[in-house]
Amino acid sequence: MIRTETRFDNKRKRLDHKKLQFATATYKENDYPHRLSLYDVPPTQEITLEEFETWAIDRLRVLAELESCSFRNRSPPETAAHMQPIIKKYLQLSANSAAAGSQIDQRLKSERRKDHYSHYILRLAFSGTEDLRRRFARVESMLFKLRLEEDDGREKRAFIESLNLDWDYVTPEEKKGLGEELLGATPGVRRLDDENWFKVDWTRVPELVEHRRVLIKRGKAYVPLKEQTSMILNEFTKRLESGLELTARQLPRLDEDDRLSPILDHLSKNFTTPDAGFSDSDSALAGAPINAANIDALSQHFPLCMKNLHTTLRQNSHLKHYGRLQYSLFLKGIGLSLEDCLLFWRQAFNKITDDTFNKEYRYNVRHVYGDVGGDSNRRGRGYSPYSCQKILTEHPPGTGEAHGCPYRHFSVDNLTSMLQATGVHDRDLLKGVKEDVEKKRYHIACNRVFEWAHKGEIKKVKDEGIWGAAELDTIVHPNTYFKRSYLLKNLGEPKQDIRMEG
Ligand code: SF4
Repeated sequence: MIRTETRFDNKRKRLDHKKLQFATATYKENDYPHRLSLYDVPPTQEITLEEFETWAIDRLRVLAELESCSFRNRSPPETAAHMQPIIKKYLQLSANSAAAGSQIDQRLKSERRKDHYSHYILRLAFSGTEDLRRRFARVESMLFKLRLEEDDGREKRAFIESLNLDWDYVTPEEKKGLGEELLGATPGVRRLDDENWFKVDWTRVPELVEHRRVLIKRGKAYVPLKEQTSMILNEFTKRLESGLELTARQLPRLDEDDRLSPILDHLSKNFTTPDAGFSDSDSALAGAPINAANIDALSQHFPLCMKNLHTTLRQNSHLKHYGRLQYSLFLKGIGLSLEDCLLFWRQAFNKITDDTFNKEYRYNVRHVYGDVGGDSNRRGRGYSPYSCQKILTEHPPGTGEAHGCPYRHFSVDNLTSMLQATGVHDRDLLKGVKEDVEKKRYHIACNRVFEWAHKGEIKKVKDEGIWGAAELDTIVHPNTYFKRSYLLKNLGEPKQDIRMEG
């Protein structure tokens, strides 16, 4: 981290590179007096590779969820309510008033440090292409806005003053003196007491001047405080965009670092569809009838990728290698035992003999479960079920293969037919899915269908406070889709030992 940031320091760039390379590094600890930051100064302290990766992943979760809120046209209050527990969990940023004493305490410092470093790590990951830079600047600005709007009034003012943006607050005397002139030039304000103003050079607010929303006097624009948030936000976005351009130019030097490059590469992939890990507890659906005989009934809760595999299997009595792998891992993830999985495949492959099944297929199913295979097979636990990201980005299906994700790998016509065959006829929904797919937001299309198919139950759990926003975050794993669907459709059942992903 330190060495990387040294290379990116603009001022040092002008120094002799050879001297710099062999000089003893000097580090300065940031003291983070404010909750918010425009991230003007890169971090210079040392952090571990693990922190480097986990902090970046946590920030990415927040950004991806924010982006999906905007894709789904959630209103600002809905977005704020939805994001609150997610931000609290992954990227908490407390106000100074939450500090134990007058000093910024250690907890606040470590929250701000994580925020600062994770921002810069993602700058590195997302400065490579114009598309990534644009998306990153957009979601970072959304996050900044969300935080700015919920900031404590006093702290917000202290933060803004610390930016030295060359704004002069208009004194009560001056305000009174300008009186009608100020009111006449500020739309939406009827009484002087209802608003306060600050002065800036008029060239800094060209849009407000163009739309005649400010009073101009002696080269100064009198801007109402209500415009402050959007001005700070513009400043944030402007600085971030130029910071990203600068990082992009320095990026080739980073290729030499074989520790960071793979992590950064993985992070930028994660921006397409956030990756989701899977742990054994994720398949815990205590009491659910998960056995070979029940897979047909349970398939009503499967996402489209697994429904497609299931239907193809039933039609052809066979699936090709990657289809078997993707489906077996998913079935294992929903809690199907190895014995039941073997029974399921044996019964499904009903055109072959026991002998052929045992010779050609049995071993692979056992291998997926870690029943056979060496150390490389995750020490006897087998492989993890595939996440959406893996399905979307690896091994696209060829002719005659049914694995992959229908939202990505089907033509729009085939996708529409398949959705209609599964009972999705709502025209607006199909239109939304088509738009998502055209914009390559495959998992958003999948979530859109999920929300439509479970809208009654989602409303109920929200209204009755049974589930929080974190339990209804964007689905990025087929097994989450199954589990959430099963739980929502069985809300009336006796309480189960339920542990949702994340
Ligand atoms: Fe399956 Fe994920 Fe595609 Fe949905 S988005 S169909 S869960 S791979």
